[in-house]
Amino acid sequence: VNDRPDGLNRFAELRSQLAQLRDGGQVIGLVPTMGALHAGHAALIERARADCNAVVVSIFVNPIQFDRRDDYDAYTIDLAKDVEFCAALGADFVFAPSAPEMYPEPASTFVEVAGVSAHLCGKFRPGHFRGVATVVAKLFNIIAPHKAYFGEKDAQQLAVIERMVADLNMPIEIVSVLTVREPDGLAVSSRNSRLTGEERQAAAALYQALKIGEDCIRKGWTSAAQVRSAALAHLQQPPWRVEYLEVVDASSMTPVAQVAGPVRIAAAAWLGAVRLIDNVRVDKIQT
Ligand code: AMP
Repeated sequence: VNDRPDGLNRFAELRSQLAQLRDGGQVIGLVPTMGALHAGHAALIERARADCNAVVVSIFVNPIQFDRRDDYDAYTIDLAKDVEFCAALGADFVFAPSAPEMYPEPASTFVEVAGVSAHLCGKFRPGHFRGVATVVAKLFNIIAPHKAYFGEKDAQQLAVIERMVADLNMPIEIVSVLTVREPDGLAVSSRNSRLTGEERQAAAALYQALKIGEDCIRKGWTSAAQVRSAALAHLQQPPWRVEYLEVVDASSMTPVAQVAGPVRIAAAAWLGAVRLIDNVRVDKIQT
């Protein structure tokens, strides 16, 4: 029943259904998404399906995490198709609120996760992680899942959510899922469909560059600057416009000068009008 424009009754109905399941001892898993579902999302839903009794997929293109209006406007989804996708994977609920339902009034409460948000995408997309952390906190309050699933593709987002949950004592287990890739290594993303044929051909070089960096570390290189240069050399050719490529500590997501412990090599780069991100984790091999 949605007889209030703010959607509160709809939220209450879902809440009470989930409360019944929870009271009956069922484990509830949440997979937050922005729709346009693909094989990467499928991996998260499948993992949740394997771990939980009830799987909720949320589909919400969150306006407050977009730093550019044109990017938000270009983010179109086909809800009916996404709902079918979720059903085929055995999800039990799809929670797809509208923007006015989620934000009946402009938000005045935000979750800001300092530190892990400071570099990489946080530096180049002002307010992005504040928007992400805020909407995920709202989803956690609405759904109250036992477990929530996030992809390593967005490693900084994962770190932000892990930190938020720890800092705010949210009783939710965060489960990370490995990045799903196309056969040529390109991380699956809804943005890939916006690449031209030529750009799509070039796109695999991003992951290759990260793997070059990874190989350097595995060979024993410890200078992050040298690792960066080796990886960046692979993205010298136009059409690439590299926004950042950094070697960061895997838990703080802060750039390191020397590779001593587990790191991620993370990059964002533009091909034409499309911004791609990717990362690899390297647990340094002891020498
Ligand atoms: P999005 O719909 O892009 O906000 O992504 C929703 C969730 O799916 C996030 O936790 C992402 O990290 C995850 N995800 C997106 N692409 C992939 C991928 N290629 N492999 C694994 N997880 C992904």
